Amino acid sequence: MKMIGPTDPSRGALRPLGLNEVKLTDGIWAERQRLNARAVLPHCTTWIERAGWVDNVRVLAAGGPAAGRKGREFSDSEVYKLLEAYSWEAARSGDPAADRVIAEWGAVLAAAQSPDGYIDTNFGRPGQAARYTDFEWGHELYCMGHMIQAGVARLRGHGEDDLVRVVRRAADHICTEFGPNGRNVICGHPEIEVALAELYRATGEERYLAQARLFVERRGAGLLAIAPFGREYFCDHVPVRRATVFEGHAVRALYLASAAVDVAIETHDDELLAAVVKQWQRTVAARTYLTGGVGSRHEGESFGDDFELPPDGAYAENCASIASVMLAWRLLLATGEAQYAELAERTLHNAIAGAVAADGHAFFYSNPLQQRTAGAPPAPDALSPRAATGLRAPWFEVSCCPTNFARTMASLGAYIATKDDAGVRIELPAGADIRTELPGGRTVGLRVTTGYPWQGRVGVKITESDGAPWRLSMRVPSWATGATVTALGQRRDAPPGQYAQVERPWRPGDEVVLELPMAPRWTFPDPRIDAVRGTVAVERGPLVYCMESVDVPAGVDLDRLAVLTSSPPTDALATDPSAPQAVTVSAIASSGTDASPWPYAAERPALSTAIHNALRMIPFFARANRGPARMRVFLPESP
Ligand SMILES: [Zn+2]
Repeated sequence: MKMIGPTDPSRGALRPLGLNEVKLTDGIWAERQRLNARAVLPHCTTWIERAGWVDNVRVLAAGGPAAGRKGREFSDSEVYKLLEAYSWEAARSGDPAADRVIAEWGAVLAAAQSPDGYIDTNFGRPGQAARYTDFEWGHELYCMGHMIQAGVARLRGHGEDDLVRVVRRAADHICTEFGPNGRNVICGHPEIEVALAELYRATGEERYLAQARLFVERRGAGLLAIAPFGREYFCDHVPVRRATVFEGHAVRALYLASAAVDVAIETHDDELLAAVVKQWQRTVAARTYLTGGVGSRHEGESFGDDFELPPDGAYAENCASIASVMLAWRLLLATGEAQYAELAERTLHNAIAGAVAADGHAFFYSNPLQQRTAGAPPAPDALSPRAATGLRAPWFEVSCCPTNFARTMASLGAYIATKDDAGVRIELPAGADIRTELPGGRTVGLRVTTGYPWQGRVGVKITESDGAPWRLSMRVPSWATGATVTALGQRRDAPPGQYAQVERPWRPGDEVVLELPMAPRWTFPDPRIDAVRGTVAVERGPLVYCMESVDVPAGVDLDRLAVLTSSPPTDALATDPSAPQAVTVSAIASSGTDASPWPYAAERPALSTAIHNALRMIPFFARANRGPARMRVFLPESP
């Protein structure tokens, strides 16, 4: 069975299951995938056309002038990411509207491409800089990288067409231009590396892998000028295999790391793989937000130092979250270790699920864990500054995040389950129909039924099996102490942080149930995260919660509240049937007046005696859907 999905390594502990093998049926991910098809894709198309970014390519195709070109130097990449999203969507749902966009834009690209395979609307015409004159900021290889990823999606989901032919010609051009005897240089924004590695996997063309490896190995030699934010901004400060942690621009660093894993797997470079694993471990241990978001600084859009994780100043760009899932998924496939799937799950449920508004027509760019001011609604028909926060905006001057969200949601089926020689593994509980082939051509089918992440019951019913034994594995998250698994009426403990495994000669109708404990819980930050020392957060299952000012009683100041942790947070369901997704906590407010002329004093602030019970907290991903509000994930703990 062909694997239709974003990454398909030729070896590793696990094999991916494509979106043709895993169909999301119901629950929050199926709903988001439908929202993506129904609202996000048309929304992105409308805005990308309105911004003139497709017209840039149409004008180039028609032999038109450079004058009047719209958008930033990398705007072509948004057309390509949207093409990738449409390619997954066409493969997933068979939507003829998606095929029409791909056919139209593919023909335009074919006409716009230079005879030697080069394509970019920002360079090379009279009035523009010559091609390949600005590797630091020009983004030419970055843009062609995204085009190649779109081509991989189309090739896997459909087969040869205009888009795929354009992509092959561009990749051949890049190999000639930048190969061992070509220009010894790299692109300021990694992306071409991960794209060429995957195009190798999709086509078998060894040259693409060799070029991907060359680009990865060239990093850290100081081939680019020093950026205002340092060499690490361009991922050019240290060779990939010698780095010890991710630093610099978070999206660039994680796209490059994803490529390094791909190259390591395909070239049997265990040293390179081990280096990325070490970088990942330290980054997760010291540079990752509770939501899975990464990138502590707006300056340079970069990782901070270890434990520099301010909630209010967090950049935590959506694209960095998506890149983090790309990397974690690759490391999961390479090693089979549950920790990678767990980070992907955390990042998807908290950082990525909240990127989009409930109606699918507005997006976050940065994702801070604290909103100090309620902010104002963005103009509905204008481009927003990209790091605008407070409320989601319809489109941005740099609009990388909406199209990245769109391609991720359209291909999300490929991040639910994996397989190995022994059987199938459920990595992310979601309502889904799964059908795949095990070694020896054995077809197996299962149906996953669950209300996760609201409920902890994950039921798996076998729908197809040949009677010979195979193993069903279900991942148990590390927070799930007390989980149990019941197979054919026999219940046993399912230790957290591992896979609950049941192996037997399955018959259609057999059922396995994983029960995950879903009581809300306190989560305390490491004291070295100075910015949130003395605070506490609330989690429930994989979800991080937040308190919004719109849920705080009149006369109470969200920023003066301190929560009482003597008893655990409770499900709001018991007290508030209107908000089954909420949890409640108790808190007391510190006294004080807004009129204080100096915000420091010789004594600790006094606490009022009034206890506020049943203060509502909602999932972080659902924030900012009820108008402007202040918001906090971490709340001070009452002494
Ligand atoms: Zn972005």
